Amino acid sequence: FQIISTRDLEKVYFTAQGIVRALGPVSISLPAGETLGIVGPSGCGKSTFLRVVAGLDTATRGKVEVAGKPVTAPLTDVGIVFQRDLLLDWRSVIDNVMLPSELRKTDRKATLQRAYELLEELGVADFAERNPWELSGGMRQRVSIARALLLRPSMLLLDEPFSALDALTRDQMNVILQRLQMHERVTTLFITHSIPEAVFLSDRVIVMSNRPGQVLDDIKVDLPKPRT
Ligand code: ADP
Ligand code: ADP
Repeated sequence: FQIISTRDLEKVYFTAQGIVRALGPVSISLPAGETLGIVGPSGCGKSTFLRVVAGLDTATRGKVEVAGKPVTAPLTDVGIVFQRDLLLDWRSVIDNVMLPSELRKTDRKATLQRAYELLEELGVADFAERNPWELSGGMRQRVSIARALLLRPSMLLLDEPFSALDALTRDQMNVILQRLQMHERVTTLFITHSIPEAVFLSDRVIVMSNRPGQVLDDIKVDLPKPRT
């Protein structure tokens, strides 16, 4: 069962300076529960691809389907984490994680328990009652990931989530995210500049090129994964 499938997906931006061919054609399909790593130079269309898949932007040509349905509007059950976190500094960590539940009005008690479990799994439970400005960059991204996963989205989109972090923290984050993937098994699109990072965390890696963002290579990663 392919949860994400695109065919000849293309995106062109029409700007005052002229036409920008931002993406494609890209044809990929990703089975449920798998992680697709996307690497390529700045400006090759990685973010555009993510936005089009999530319905935050429309394709110029081609098809994109999620769970067998064409994407025609912003998807609601998607968790997204960007390079710069969007935590609200005036709210506690736990209240930041609970934000999607307030917007969607889910059962508060069960969701709160899930929020604490995610913070625990991500190693930041001790900071639940603190405010984000008291946390390091890596910890803030852990909180962002918890928030993205709170409502068990059908898809997790990670747009260079670790790029702003120092090398040591980034390595730590990779290990934490890999362990989390074992337990959550959420279908994930993972944008990164780092090929080793993509290989470490993905079942498949596509390499995109500039002008216009096309897929140069599509590699199946066949590394043994840890079992816990
Ligand atoms: P990446 O994520 O790989 O860095 P992007 O998807 O952000 O690449 O951008 C791909 C290309 O599309 C770039 O040339 C970028 O300048 C252009 N682009 C992205 N968004 C817009 C936009 N809203 N309007 C015009 N051009 C855009
Ligand atoms: P990244 O490289 O991290 O993908 P960018 O810095 O390329 O991000 O783009 C950040 C934002 O600016 C995106 O929302 C993108 O759509 C927009 N953008 C990028 N290039 C252009 C452009 N040439 N014209 C208008 N908007 C753009």
